[in-house]
Amino acid sequence: MIFLLKIFLLLRFFIFSAGTAFPADMGIDSHTIRVSIFQKQISLKLRTHSKVYALDPSGRKYMLLGNSNYEIKPGGGDIVLITRQALKLPVKLFSMDGDDRININGKAYKGDIYIKPDTDDRLAVVEEIPLEEYLYGVLPFEMSSSWPLEALKAQAVASRTFAIKNMSPSKEYDITSGIETQVYNGSAKLDAGVISAVNSTRGEILKYNGKIITAFFHACCGGRTTSVSSAWGEGLIKPLYGAGDPFCKNSPNYSWQAYIPKKELLSFIQKKGSTALKLKSVRILKKDRSGRAVSVRFVTDSGGHTVPARDFRRHFGEYGLKSTFIIRITPVKSGYQFAGRGWGHGVGMCQEGAKQMAINGRNYKRILNHYYPGAKIENIHAKERLQGDKVIR
Ligand SMILES: [Zn+2]
Repeated sequence: MIFLLKIFLLLRFFIFSAGTAFPADMGIDSHTIRVSIFQKQISLKLRTHSKVYALDPSGRKYMLLGNSNYEIKPGGGDIVLITRQALKLPVKLFSMDGDDRININGKAYKGDIYIKPDTDDRLAVVEEIPLEEYLYGVLPFEMSSSWPLEALKAQAVASRTFAIKNMSPSKEYDITSGIETQVYNGSAKLDAGVISAVNSTRGEILKYNGKIITAFFHACCGGRTTSVSSAWGEGLIKPLYGAGDPFCKNSPNYSWQAYIPKKELLSFIQKKGSTALKLKSVRILKKDRSGRAVSVRFVTDSGGHTVPARDFRRHFGEYGLKSTFIIRITPVKSGYQFAGRGWGHGVGMCQEGAKQMAINGRNYKRILNHYYPGAKIENIHAKERLQGDKVIR
């Protein structure tokens, strides 16, 4: 008894009971998404509000106290240490009060948390959360919650479609939480406009010829969206073919300028395999139908060198090169001035255009129809629900 009390006092945990591992019927909404929220962690800071259960694969339950701080660290192999208690991975954390949040590394999460082993003896964290609640944590970061409701509703449908399209039960998680997919930052920043946009479009997704589309979106297209095939070589369908956009022209990202020093350009092509020591000129070699650069040609003392515009943009993004929609390149002192339009990859919905359409009085269906022409808004049916069912590993 004294021993158990010691565990309770020192580790602020106790073994609760043995039971079945990870029951499959935990959430009220069976349509959940698994979001990779942290990777390669050597330490996680956990803050509880109400009591939290930690469940190991054998079904052993531990209880973490409410209003407490815990440190989670890799314990080598398939072991994790929560404070000093060793548990076998993967560990599931869930709040005693179903609606309460668990705070990890300063961010609040409402779903069930899975601590899993990652490479190099580190930890990965996956949150499993009902799809609609996940969207509450996407919209404020992918669009501003202060934007008009119809634009937020269009974003909710696009983000929901994008999330469903990403679901893959055979993988460790369905979607990441950064800009490479769509940004998700947990459940802290809930706002009435966001909740209303998600709830009023609940279950609505975009389909074309009966198939869910990859509902790409980006900040600003600069007057014309581009096709999914020219951006990534993906199979072309009508809703992702690209469209003219008269709506985003007042956006601050509609046009931009970027200065890049010659020596940076030279070092970039050297990394790409060029042996050049002197740069003579830079030009766009090939453009796609929307006017975006496909390839950039560098003429140097050791001949010509061509680079995919996508790589060029990725490399010089921090110099203010916001897109591959480069319309002018001007040689200036010790470098080049690039003038261009739009921000982002340019495929699918232009968020700043969507905002303006909503200001102009268009509803979300009109907005979606403009940016994904031919796509139909349909409700998620049972088959897609199955894709989102809990997967236990
Ligand atoms: Zn646009």
